[in-house]
Amino acid sequence: MKKLEELKFENSYSRLPEIFYSRHTTIPLSKQHLISFNADAAELIELDPEESKREDFVEIISGAIHLDGFDPLAMCYAGHQFGQYVPRLGDGRAILLGEVKTDSGEKWDLQVKGGGPTLYSRGSDGRAVLRSTIREYLCSEAMHGLGIPTTRALCILGSDHEVYREQIETGAMLLRMAPSHVRFGSFEYMYYNQHFDELRQLADHVIAQHHPDFTKLDEPYLALLGDAIKSTAELIAQWQAVGFAHGVMNTDNMSILGLTLDYGPYGFLDQYNRDFICNHSDHQGRYAFDQQPDIGLFNVSCLAQALLPLLDDDPDRAVAKAKSVLEKYRRYYVERYSALMREKLGLYVERKGDQALCSELLALMHDNQVDYTLLFRRLSQLPGDDYKNSLRDLFIQREAFDGWLEKYEQRIAEENVDATERSRRMRQVNPKYILRNYMVEIAIRKASDEQDYSEIDVLLELLKTPYDEHAPLEHYASHPPEWAQQISVSCSS
Ligand code: AMP
Ligand code: MG
Repeated sequence: MKKLEELKFENSYSRLPEIFYSRHTTIPLSKQHLISFNADAAELIELDPEESKREDFVEIISGAIHLDGFDPLAMCYAGHQFGQYVPRLGDGRAILLGEVKTDSGEKWDLQVKGGGPTLYSRGSDGRAVLRSTIREYLCSEAMHGLGIPTTRALCILGSDHEVYREQIETGAMLLRMAPSHVRFGSFEYMYYNQHFDELRQLADHVIAQHHPDFTKLDEPYLALLGDAIKSTAELIAQWQAVGFAHGVMNTDNMSILGLTLDYGPYGFLDQYNRDFICNHSDHQGRYAFDQQPDIGLFNVSCLAQALLPLLDDDPDRAVAKAKSVLEKYRRYYVERYSALMREKLGLYVERKGDQALCSELLALMHDNQVDYTLLFRRLSQLPGDDYKNSLRDLFIQREAFDGWLEKYEQRIAEENVDATERSRRMRQVNPKYILRNYMVEIAIRKASDEQDYSEIDVLLELLKTPYDEHAPLEHYASHPPEWAQQISVSCSS
């Protein structure tokens, strides 16, 4: 484990031409202090967690004191926001301090979110409020705990710096980590500005950093597109299977590596509601829960469009090649989603009627407003006295559910896995704990109103192992409380 000064930086992005970014340093918040530190993320960069106790830790990690090797910059990108192309977005409030190269050969971007304005702030303050910082910190780690690809988070810094949103709030910074922060929108920026040489440079950069094997292929750029399509389809399959709504699936929030990126007004489903809209500014429901797989296809199509000049010198052939890989998106999605849902149901041999059995359950859950996480967890219990009743209790139309359960039990009987083993396996894929909105809200209220940050750490710890039992925190495994329905997640952050 290393001291901060011992981290090795290898800043590949800052060696690209200046069109890719703008150099900035962070501007400290008043009375910055450490609110929460994530030792698991520290381990990824081989950083000794004890370093967080250093007097100068906050100044260093916020970028106020430069370590040798820091080369801070804001990345430039464009993107389709709610279907409309916006020619320049860029990191308006995120500053990449540098890229750490670990002894084991991994590379991690260290990025401060909320570090002050940049060339891309478009009149906004470049800050992040404590509320949204806690939301991103907890959710990125919760997603990781669930086994879903995501950016990570090293720590939260708080302050008494006033930030103006709908009301006055305090500013905070999140230290975000990812193997790369390159987005679909990074490619779109080069494409729409007709910077085709730079487009190629960006693709070469991503390939060199993350897919070195592609260089041996005849068509490395087609392979890059194919990989992004597959990882995006599979990422969204995982979101759907766990009941996660991202909320702002603009192409500037889509990672070229298929990571969940940029946590804003996201939400996990409580009751199963296909039309769930977590982003209150999304009046059309463009990013509603059941729209996510289709929006994923729209987004990878935008990426394909941006990569066309690299796919072939002949425009028609380039389009044909792009289409040939885009066509696979749905198959990737369906295959992964079906596999995940079969596992959730404890079905290990594939049978013809499995998809119908799953759809029928989801339709019943939708109509009966059944809690998504609770249902699957209860279904994972070992059949016993309480088993059937605990499930039936979740439904209003109990006879309809009985009908489904009968079919399910018949189907289960065709499996060769014994009940104890199936229950164990099902509990490994059906989380007991998810980051329900009200849980984040409790952590936020305690932090904002009482400067009590303990709940952040409690939830961080809990959500690292969401499939396990955590007896003292059993209350977080029940239905959300009544007041949770009143929570409104604002898009401002
Ligand atoms: P988001 O919806 O958070 O992904 O942000 C969309 C764009 O707005 C990105 O280019 C952000 O960098 C920028 N942005 C969001 N909030 C701020 C802020 N407070 N100050 C400057 N830029 C911001
Ligand atoms: Mg964003």
